Amino acid sequence: MLKAAFPGSFDPPTSGHINIIQRAASIFGELVVVVAENRQKKYLFNAEERVEMIRELVKDCKNVSVAVCDCLIVDYLKRNDIKLLLRGVRGLEDFSYEFELSVMNRTLDPDIETIFMTTDPEYFVIRSSAIKELASFDGNLHGMVPELVAKALKNKYNSISS
Ligand code: ADP
Repeated sequence: MLKAAFPGSFDPPTSGHINIIQRAASIFGELVVVVAENRQKKYLFNAEERVEMIRELVKDCKNVSVAVCDCLIVDYLKRNDIKLLLRGVRGLEDFSYEFELSVMNRTLDPDIETIFMTTDPEYFVIRSSAIKELASFDGNLHGMVPELVAKALKNKYNSISS
């Protein structure tokens, strides 16, 4: 049974992320969505909030679990006996970044294989940073993030501005 990890910031999870998770869940026997908690980074949603949103969004995928990682992903994978690392790619810009990351991870641990999954065309331009910017101006997020995430973003920006 193939077990893979899909690591990322998911700040917030978008329809592009969920699409990758659902497609991967039908390929791998087990998929762990690994939410990064990097103390050097500033997140809009804390790790617990990101985990809760993803858990709710993928609750129908019985072979998907959600975990938090506050260390190097290669260390997390080793500790959990996972050798496949899944990453999503939207285009060439993502690919060059992801390519370097995968070479770096293989240098750190030659047992790790990175697998790339290309985005479905409708999610091509969706990225968490743009979603946050749009949400901060109360823009229409329809189709870009699940309803639950759109509500969470609205609440977050309302609480920041009040
Ligand atoms: P990170 O900070 O690790 O890049 P992200 O949450 O931005 O975390 O992305 C996690 C993974 O999901 C990355 O592999 C990224 O390329 C992929 N991804 C993000 N948005 C999309 C999308 N719209 N379609 C496909 N893959 C995506």
